[in-house]
Amino acid sequence: MATKRDYYEILGVNKNASADEIKAAYRKLAMQYHPDRNKSPDAEEKFKELSEAYAVLSDQNKRQQYDQFGHAGIDMRYSQEDIFKGADFEDLFRDLGFGGFGGFGRGGGIFDIIFGGRREGPRRGSDLLYELAISFDEAASGKSVNMEVPRTETCDVCNGSGARPGTSPKTCQTCRGSGQVSRTQNTPFGRFMTTSTCGTCRGSGNIIDSPCIECHGSGTVQRRRKLEVKIPPGVDTGTRLRVPGEGEAGEKGGPPGDLYVEIQVKPHSIFTRSDDDVIMEAPISFTQAALGDEIIVPTLDGKAKMKIPPGTQSGHVFRLKGKGFPRLHISGKGDQLVKIKVEVPTKLTEKQKQLLREFSEISGEKIKSRGIFG
Ligand SMILES: [Zn+2]
Ligand SMILES: [Zn+2]
Repeated sequence: MATKRDYYEILGVNKNASADEIKAAYRKLAMQYHPDRNKSPDAEEKFKELSEAYAVLSDQNKRQQYDQFGHAGIDMRYSQEDIFKGADFEDLFRDLGFGGFGGFGRGGGIFDIIFGGRREGPRRGSDLLYELAISFDEAASGKSVNMEVPRTETCDVCNGSGARPGTSPKTCQTCRGSGQVSRTQNTPFGRFMTTSTCGTCRGSGNIIDSPCIECHGSGTVQRRRKLEVKIPPGVDTGTRLRVPGEGEAGEKGGPPGDLYVEIQVKPHSIFTRSDDDVIMEAPISFTQAALGDEIIVPTLDGKAKMKIPPGTQSGHVFRLKGKGFPRLHISGKGDQLVKIKVEVPTKLTEKQKQLLREFSEISGEKIKSRGIFG
């Protein structure tokens, strides 16, 4: 057995730390090393170590036992699973946003991480993430999307039991349904208990004599599920929509996970977006800028007339109120920002050049032979 680090040291607290201090220390480190967030290879081990330390130190009896007898006091008295039982992991992780949101690919509970995906009793299905690309205009108007989601569903022939209809799974005799076998070894250094996955039932706790023909005993089947998802107006790249109960099937009667649809908005040829505002550039001629005009600009829902006052400068931004994106969670809309770009003509006729020279002269400018428009 490898030497175990001191629980207090793992959490970075001192021996007299209060329950609140221990909890705060664990929260902070768990956020950092949760394997759903931290992808470095040793994060999971680190997370298990942290969680074990927290499980023991957050429980009055276990903490006392540990303070008195050290690791041996815990390992002799509790099975691996019992060490973790009773701690408030589920609440903690729900608070931290794991397990539902961000719990992709797992049943969502800490037990799945600690015990490699196996846990007694019902288990919530995994969440699924579906990436959906939509156009800029669809992001503004919203749309209804038909999608096909490949996912695991409960087998409806055996209702998830994995056993052929008319038969039922039997509790594994080797492990008496726990899925794990413990072995106690007496050595000169003390009594050690090791726990491993039951070889007879391969950890499921059940033996199926006649497996269901449809799912071959797994209790689940792969299906492509057709779904209609409503995309509300105002979504942006990165918006995640939650479709409750449309994730993977739960196990042993557990509820299904959720489906998350993550939006990717394709770029537009004219518009860009900043929060709920739409931004565009409108080219106008220098005479329009100087004399003023009325121009028509495209908007998300059609066109809008816009007044250019005389003397408008290049780079000036006009705001069209309420012509932006609908705000996603509150009422109202953003604005459309129109940035003026005054274009200097590149091809001029002799007549035009003459008139510009006259204009220049009247304005009191001195232009050398070819001039700025030459
Ligand atoms: Zn077994
Ligand atoms: Zn089946």
